[in-house]
Amino acid sequence: MLRFERVKIREEEPDNRTKSFTLEPLIEYSNDEATTEASRCIGCNICTQACPASLDIGGYINSTAIGDPAQTVRIVFENLPFPAIIGRVCTHNCEDICVMYDTGGPLAIRHLKRYAADKFDDYSKIMNVKRRGFLNRKVAVIGSGPAGMSTAYYLAIQGVKVTVFEALPVTGGFMRVGIPRYRLPDDVIDKEIRFIQSQGVEVKLNTRVGKDVFFPDIMNDFDAVFIGVGNHRPRMTGTTGSDAENIMHATEFLGKIALGEHVDVGKNVIVIGGGFTANDAARISMRLGANSIKIMYRRRETDRPGYPSTNADEEMEETLSEGIDYMWEVTPFEYVKEGNRIVAIKYWKNEMISDSTGRSKPVPIKEKTFTMDIDFVIEATGQETDFSFLGEDYAKRLKLTPQGHIIVDQSGMTSIPKLFSGGDSTNITRDLISAVRDGDTAVIGILNYLNIMDKVNEEYLPLLDRWKKFSPISAKMSYPDKIK
Ligand SMILES: Cc1cc2nc3c(=O)[nH]c(=O)nc-3n(C[C@H](O)[C@H](O)[C@H](O)COP(=O)(O)OP(=O)(O)OC[C@H]3O[C@@H](n4cnc5c(N)ncnc54)[C@H](O)[C@@H]3O)c2cc1C
Ligand code: SF4
Repeated sequence: MLRFERVKIREEEPDNRTKSFTLEPLIEYSNDEATTEASRCIGCNICTQACPASLDIGGYINSTAIGDPAQTVRIVFENLPFPAIIGRVCTHNCEDICVMYDTGGPLAIRHLKRYAADKFDDYSKIMNVKRRGFLNRKVAVIGSGPAGMSTAYYLAIQGVKVTVFEALPVTGGFMRVGIPRYRLPDDVIDKEIRFIQSQGVEVKLNTRVGKDVFFPDIMNDFDAVFIGVGNHRPRMTGTTGSDAENIMHATEFLGKIALGEHVDVGKNVIVIGGGFTANDAARISMRLGANSIKIMYRRRETDRPGYPSTNADEEMEETLSEGIDYMWEVTPFEYVKEGNRIVAIKYWKNEMISDSTGRSKPVPIKEKTFTMDIDFVIEATGQETDFSFLGEDYAKRLKLTPQGHIIVDQSGMTSIPKLFSGGDSTNITRDLISAVRDGDTAVIGILNYLNIMDKVNEEYLPLLDRWKKFSPISAKMSYPDKIK
């Protein structure tokens, strides 16, 4: 019998979640739940067009439906070496356009990917990647986030020698030091990075380019270079009183917690911002013992980053259910200090006024001032890329957009020959799956640039813009007698 209703994803109780830094909110599907949910898919693959990394979603939902999670992982790996990570934290735009959206709810595409990936502790048992012998080419990757590590993986399995330079003592970029452990457990990141490293990728931790090694030397020593440095330089508001000791940028705050430090946030915390980072900073504050946490955003609820999408709705639901409040349309203008500590925040309420282009702008109503007592301020007001590692000469030659993103061509190459780039330093979407897609693009670009396309194993090349082509692995599964 046809089943239309989405199989409910069970959740941990919010009271239990807020007592733990590691308890994941969503409970994994059982085998029965996963196959039942996957069986709802009609295989139209429209969702693939909404996936930045162009995964063969219809193909891997099909393999899950027939009880073959190993095949699901293999299909995902065609373009993405992080199935368990993306299966937890992807923005899952694919679900927003699923044709089943109004017929029992969109397929639980993200959750099904997590289900399949979590079945395996070690992907080498199911992947059987036949790595090429050394092709006599060396590539340097700067940054071990999703963009850098995807690039490293797909080059390494083709026989390119890849060295990743990472400033931090840990791998993973914001997967490790941004997104908290209750959304992305350490062992999940470890498993996927370990598999990438097992393909011959060398990672040099605690090695900041521009300080421990120099960019011009890397450009001389390697045949091509990929920049995946993300955006890690905090942008603070500079509100009066910001020089106090109890204020921190959200990425610094989350990074400290991820690396095992404690931060004393007191009981009343204000988070300024409205995206992933604001929500995570608020939810971590709750886990640190705060009991009144407010996220202040200057625009309306419907203007927040990521809205409208099921991801933005789910994120807000989880945050609200953990007891955190949102304050929409407010502008903080002073942190009131006593000595070196902020004790209160002063703010105005805003009204949204349309400008000549029709876009609404928040305008503070300054006649009335509001004041609230607080113990700690976290500013989740964005970051930018720190380009100082390039040195003066290369910095002059690297072309940026007016907003400060690296400009690349269709192959991922920057304005400097042999230098490629991707991820948060380059794209404007600033999410994991777009960073992976940039890595995929750069892999093809680098292999072409190195002039070794005739030596590569096509089966292991990331398949860009899949709807224009077909998936070799799922085609083999659907037509085993026709495709060898
Ligand atoms: C709190 C938070 C929550 C998020 N939640 C989500 C989410 O739920 N879903 C989602 O899709 N996205 C989320 N994101 C965004 C996502 O994490 C990023 O888009 C993604 O990690 C960008 O990947 P990247 O490889 O470009 O850079 P990053 O992941 O930032 O990695 C860059 C790496 O480069 C290293 N580096 C920088 N400079 C140097 C140097 N000079 N030398 C050597 N190494 C260097 C850095 O240390 C870092 O490890 C979140 C981000 C944050 C901060
Ligand atoms: S859009 Fe929905 S029904 Fe169509 S392939 Fe994707 S998951 Fe299946």
